[in-house]
Amino acid sequence: MTDKTIHFISLGCPKNRVDSEVMLGVAEREGYRHGAAPDGADVIVVNACGFIDAAKKESVDTILAMADHKATGRCSRLVVAGCLSQRHPDELAAGLPEVDHFLGSSDMLALGSVLRGDADRMLVGNPADWLVAAESPRRLSSHAGSAYVKIAEGCNRSCSFCVIPSLRGKQRSRRIPDVVREVEELVARGVKEVNLVSQDTIAYGRDLPAAESRELAELVHAVAEVKGLAWVRIFYLYPEKLSEPLVELLAEHPRVLPYVDMPLQHAADAMLRRMKRGHGGARLRKVVDDLRAKVEDLVFRTAFIVGHPGETDTEFDELCEFVAWAEFDRVGVFRYSDEETSHSATLAAKVEQRVATTRYKKLMTMSRRIAKKKNQALVGSELDVLVEGASEEHEAVLAGRHRGQAPEIDGLVYLSGTESLERLPKPGELVRVKITQASDYDLAGEVTGFLSRATARRAGPARGESAKVGARGAGQRISLRVLPTDNRGVS
Ligand code: SF4
Repeated sequence: MTDKTIHFISLGCPKNRVDSEVMLGVAEREGYRHGAAPDGADVIVVNACGFIDAAKKESVDTILAMADHKATGRCSRLVVAGCLSQRHPDELAAGLPEVDHFLGSSDMLALGSVLRGDADRMLVGNPADWLVAAESPRRLSSHAGSAYVKIAEGCNRSCSFCVIPSLRGKQRSRRIPDVVREVEELVARGVKEVNLVSQDTIAYGRDLPAAESRELAELVHAVAEVKGLAWVRIFYLYPEKLSEPLVELLAEHPRVLPYVDMPLQHAADAMLRRMKRGHGGARLRKVVDDLRAKVEDLVFRTAFIVGHPGETDTEFDELCEFVAWAEFDRVGVFRYSDEETSHSATLAAKVEQRVATTRYKKLMTMSRRIAKKKNQALVGSELDVLVEGASEEHEAVLAGRHRGQAPEIDGLVYLSGTESLERLPKPGELVRVKITQASDYDLAGEVTGFLSRATARRAGPARGESAKVGARGAGQRISLRVLPTDNRGVS
């Protein structure tokens, strides 16, 4: 163990977060300790997002801010990793002399040679060379009890506004046994909730040899059967008809949450064609209808882009009408930006930023109103809540999330009444909460007791064996400095 410290900043999406955690694992293997603050760190790593203009700007601002620590602090090496390096290696190398090393979106393990001091400046390889595995080094950084699990990498689609396939390569799926082994290890470290992520989750397994099991439903079922796990949440579903087995899992399995994250991007046929989404508005209505009809208490998260080239007032009105009809529980809205190398950047009929902002505000206001109405309907109900720890607002107030709240993006449940319990709930524990108040995205409620298992769905008494809570995580979790660039809109 050296007495050297390393500080990490993870920008972008949960998939980038997993890569940051792998690099943290690599740094630990090289004997580095994690430093929670940049000043005093010997090495600073910015795992940067390069998805859209806003994300790129934030990445460069963050890199320059960290470069100051080289001038004034102990920092001797500044490393930039991730999609931004993968996308613009030469421009960055020329424009940011302060940066000592650039690692691409598949070069996490190369951090080892950087820390050993025998690496070149440019370590940007082929984005298709990497796929995380159960044996990859990894240090968890999310809140206690929760972890992201990357089930595949890359994307084979060609949505006209998106550059991710060029940053992450073609789709490559992990084998089910490898994912299950990782989840078993995570549960042994105290994890209760796994969040399955990839660029194109519904396409999981389609790239695997026909002889191998390659259905998303098979993977989700295998993960949900891991002893000690309480919750499985699925992210980044492309809007296709979900297989019957997958819908059944969402509707019935005690540990697969009735939660769907499915970015839809738009609803007007002409716009969906321009975006090369491969389907029209009617398909989206059918997918939403089907899921709502078959999955009780479904929480539907989605995302839309406004201001894409060619978007007319009529098309935007169609989108608003669709959102009013569907009443999505969680909505992210993104203002389009031209991304060089994307097809959309070559399209005419650009929409003025002023107009895009007006549309953004209108759709966000509509969605917030719907979220508030749905939140208020939860007052008086009893919910299972995964405790995250002291809230950011006040260290004496505990906060957590119920099934319908994904980590970091969906609001929190603020907990009271803990003084009447035999002890204070710990981060990573499940408790039962009676909801007493609701705001647009958050809830507040009284803890009425501890849960030794995730209670079965309302559809009747407990099904499936009890998920005993595993011993809390071996090895201290680190609090990674995370600046989630809001690019959860892809897929
Ligand atoms: S938006 Fe999603 S599905 Fe489409 S190309 Fe990008 S990553 Fe792939």
